[in-house]
Amino acid sequence: MGLLILAASPLTPLRAEVSKERFDTVVIDAGHGGEDTGARSPDGLSEKDVVLEVTQRLAGRLRKSGLNVALTRSGDEFVPLEVRTAIANEAGGDLFISIHANSARNTKAHGIETYFVSLEASDEGAKQVAERENDAFERTGARVGQGQDPLVALLGDMIVTEHLRESSEFSKLVQAQLIETTGGGSRGVKQAPFVVLMGVQMPASLIEIGFLSNRGDVKSLSKKRHLEALVEGVARAVEAFRKRYDARRGVGPDGSVLRSN
Ligand SMILES: [Zn+2]
Repeated sequence: MGLLILAASPLTPLRAEVSKERFDTVVIDAGHGGEDTGARSPDGLSEKDVVLEVTQRLAGRLRKSGLNVALTRSGDEFVPLEVRTAIANEAGGDLFISIHANSARNTKAHGIETYFVSLEASDEGAKQVAERENDAFERTGARVGQGQDPLVALLGDMIVTEHLRESSEFSKLVQAQLIETTGGGSRGVKQAPFVVLMGVQMPASLIEIGFLSNRGDVKSLSKKRHLEALVEGVARAVEAFRKRYDARRGVGPDGSVLRSN
């Protein structure tokens, strides 16, 4: 027994150090699920279904490229937002990607937009999107602290961490790649107080892959080829982000630590 410990000890800390530094785990969060259908197109396409489809395809694509993937839900089930956050943190993710589909009263609104977290929404439209997506949080009656705005309390010190800068970086990368691979309209990178992005201890983005209230977007989202293009766009952005992430932390392409801290 003593021999076993001696034999294992020189290797174990090294491995732990490498896996901690290296970009190797992505958490993908399919919005909504179960009783929470999310947005719905006039002909009945549900946000919860289309985002699960994209999430599963994306998980397969990222695993093929050698990454570990954790999912906050893998079926049609209701998962509270705070549980999603806990799953992401327990998985030790290096990046959190939440996939959603949009809806607006103006049926002409269309295209893709990517968000990262902030206390203040970047515009009125962004504020409304966050309110709609935070609905599942309000529904569970989750509260943090008495008499305190739960959003403010949850945001906590997250806003001052380096994750915010990296969240912004990934959001820009993924928005650009998505427009390139899908040829879709870009609504840009925005910020808003999404509960699901708060409290995840890693860079985090939320992608609205299109409007279920827009006929053209619904037509696209019903096509396998378009879903594959969305997956390809996200996967390319993850790959680009992974390289930058590892380079910043002194991890070489083969996973070796080039620089010791
Ligand atoms: Zn949603």
